[in-house]
Amino acid sequence: MRSSLNPKRTVAELKELRALTGNEDGAQRVAFTQTWLKGRAYLRSLVSRDLPEVEVHNDEAGNTWFTLRGASEKSLLIGGHMDSVPNGGWLDGCLNVFAGLEILRRIQAQYAGRPPVTVRLVDWADEEGARFGKSLFGSSSCSGNFDMAEARRLADKQGVTLPDALKKLGLDFERVKDSGRELKDAAAYLELHIEQGPVLLDLDLPLGAVLGTFGVERHAITFHGQAAHSGSTPMNRRKDAFLAAAKMSSEIYQIAGRSGNGVCTIGSCTTKPGIVTSVVEECRITLDQRHLDASKLAQMLAEARAASERFAAEGSVGVAWERLWQIAPRPFNDELIALCDQAIRETCGRSHRLPSGPLHDAAEVAAAGVPTVMMFVQSLHGISHNKIEDTREEHLELCVTAFDKLSEKTMQWMQSPGKIS
Ligand SMILES: [Zn+2]
Repeated sequence: MRSSLNPKRTVAELKELRALTGNEDGAQRVAFTQTWLKGRAYLRSLVSRDLPEVEVHNDEAGNTWFTLRGASEKSLLIGGHMDSVPNGGWLDGCLNVFAGLEILRRIQAQYAGRPPVTVRLVDWADEEGARFGKSLFGSSSCSGNFDMAEARRLADKQGVTLPDALKKLGLDFERVKDSGRELKDAAAYLELHIEQGPVLLDLDLPLGAVLGTFGVERHAITFHGQAAHSGSTPMNRRKDAFLAAAKMSSEIYQIAGRSGNGVCTIGSCTTKPGIVTSVVEECRITLDQRHLDASKLAQMLAEARAASERFAAEGSVGVAWERLWQIAPRPFNDELIALCDQAIRETCGRSHRLPSGPLHDAAEVAAAGVPTVMMFVQSLHGISHNKIEDTREEHLELCVTAFDKLSEKTMQWMQSPGKIS
């Protein structure tokens, strides 16, 4: 039977969404705004026009669920997010949703409205965290990882709190974790996303299978020296906090290099007294380290600590560490990664496995214990969260085709797990 899948329709719908909710500066679907709701209404209108048998509801965290009931309650979940950062790209998040819609259409047609398993598309609420500074709101509420005490205090630039913003949408902050019941019958979770980095572009490959999301260790490192006059203090008498911090700058490249796939970033540096005529007394840098392997991440952290102590001792300064944030690596399901590879090879010949540096909703679903995998499609310029974010149209069509194959393979796998042909 010939598939009714129409990837060109997905591209056309993404363009329509861009026209409806973007402007000359890019996508403007920041969560909890009118523009976001307009984008969501567009999605709902397509579902009710083309798939009237699909049930639609919002859960307690504002995630929208589109459910095509199958012969079994066991559910295949396909996820994405309609929200964007301000002045965002036209594909981040919504490509996943519209590809999922096209797959729902195909499955509905192929199985005459009654697939062997239940298929559900979820549009997660506020993946980006652009307004309240906290990413993955909807999916972490659903997974149970959402930190209520911390989130209760979050406010936007106007001073509106997250609980108040939710109330405006008819949502009760205290009940957001009740959304966890949506995962009750979930047997697999799939998410398609633009890569947002240059790996596939550099390999000249359209698609890749994602191994998991990086674990993150984020610390502030403060070196304490002594302020001294820049003219009267000989070089060998200085306790220069900046010198010790600066040595970290090249050291992190060595540490990341030894770790295999890890990355390290010193993203900020502040000095005190911060004047042109004084040796730096205090220098605070931030270090962000990421790796897919928990033991290698721990190793990178230990090496950075040891290096900071060595540089401090060499320069007769002190050093103190403060953890700002951490999250464990979230590896995806091995069998689903293999299916994703297969689907990609069948679609375009070659595949590549890569970790994800950015976090995604998929990380939360994986943490909740649902077998999960993501597929990446190449990003031009290797860039997103920017209006220049783009992907070749032929690659967009390929990714819908490959993701559809992955969905079909996953449905088969759900009925007899462990069997990968
Ligand atoms: Zn995204």
